Amino acid sequence: MQFLDIREADFQAKFDAIVERGEESGREVEEVVLGIISDVRKRGDEALIEYTRRFDRLECDAAGLEITEAEFAKAFAQVDEKDLAALKLAVERVARYHEKQKQQTWLSTEESDIMLGQKVTPLAKVGIYVPGGKACYPSSVIMNAVPAKVAGVGEIIMVVPTPGGETNAHVLVAAKLSGVDRVFRIGGAQAVAALAYGTATVPRVDKITGPGNIYVATAKKLVFGQVGIDMIAGPSEILVINDGSGNPTHIAADLLSQAEHDELASSVLITTDRSFGEKVAAEVERQLKELSREAIARKSWESFGVIIVAGNLEEAIAFSNRIAPEHLELAVENPFEIMPLITNAGAIFMGHYTPEASGDYLAGPNHTLPTGGTARFFSPLSVDDFVKKSSLIYFTKGGLQRVGKDIVRIATLEGLEAHGKSVSFRLDS
Ligand code: NAD
Repeated sequence: MQFLDIREADFQAKFDAIVERGEESGREVEEVVLGIISDVRKRGDEALIEYTRRFDRLECDAAGLEITEAEFAKAFAQVDEKDLAALKLAVERVARYHEKQKQQTWLSTEESDIMLGQKVTPLAKVGIYVPGGKACYPSSVIMNAVPAKVAGVGEIIMVVPTPGGETNAHVLVAAKLSGVDRVFRIGGAQAVAALAYGTATVPRVDKITGPGNIYVATAKKLVFGQVGIDMIAGPSEILVINDGSGNPTHIAADLLSQAEHDELASSVLITTDRSFGEKVAAEVERQLKELSREAIARKSWESFGVIIVAGNLEEAIAFSNRIAPEHLELAVENPFEIMPLITNAGAIFMGHYTPEASGDYLAGPNHTLPTGGTARFFSPLSVDDFVKKSSLIYFTKGGLQRVGKDIVRIATLEGLEAHGKSVSFRLDS
């Protein structure tokens, strides 16, 4: 961790040098992934079975790639009652929040002779990637499947690797509760390729969403165009803005909740009170020793952790807007006062009792957020990602007569004669 002062002349250069994470070993991974994709396109299920044996140490035939109803029933029987209630609560709250995002088809009759509108249509089939290599993520299932369900997607197909053939009961239960239709035990680039191109067993989808490791992210990038994708998520980030109020123990825990995700995660505190920053630094050290994921969290905190002292909240906000964090906590006395000044952030957590983890699991908003400064132009995953829109245009004869001459004029400007004639023939008839 480094302690910086925003008023130092070379502050920005120092900060950039710390959080710069460089390109991951992109080229080599891309070659491997291209090979896997073309193999799955060529050999379908046969290739899927082979890669699943190689990467997930799972031996099965094509029919065995799909999770059965009996396995879902077994998963429900294995899950503790209180865990089930927590997952149900998360699904309900996430669904209720995403319901508010739904857009309706509309048709405007502002003009009596021309009607214009927009038709909203859910995607027919969506593929959801749920990571499963090193850990299991029922929350990723909920955050991807629920908005798709709320949007009205026709069929939700989930893929999740099951290393050694071990299915995770919480992931399967979350899938059922969220409205997933079918689940396949495949992962990595081969799963993305199967969803993008289809095999005899795995249906081809229109869009693939969900996080994953570098092989998954690269595969999503490479199949984009054949199918839609949500976004390419980079390592997680948190920025906490603080005015000296609140409890350093809480803020330290929030910083570590990002750090424990990934060695490349970045956790930054910017405070107007140096002594508060010093207390947080000491607290992080104390709490690190108690974490089961200490090794990952320590590496992240030591490499990409920063505590910054700012002269005032305006300076802190301007800094935050420049870096556009994925998660932004406003750990200040009066968060609603400064919230309108925030222009770039994936999610804004307001006040001393809104830890970032609340949004990860069940507050309601989506936890799939833009990383790496892309909150400047990207939004969280939403119902919008699971629908497409068609424009609606209807002219009466009178409507075409009213504006037709101007259509012809613009067509002529562009030298597109047939365009003009398609209007003038109608005007003359
Ligand atoms: P994963 O499911 O993404 O990847 C496992 C698959 O990777 C395997 O099935 C295999 O097919 C493939 N693979 C592994 N090594 C390979 C190799 N050498 N060559 C080709 N393919 C190979 O699971 P993971 O590895 O545990 O990674 C999960 C990632 O997702 C982590 O980076 C985690 O931080 C991230 N994540 C992000 C969020 C979010 O919301 N942003 C949520 C959960 C997880």
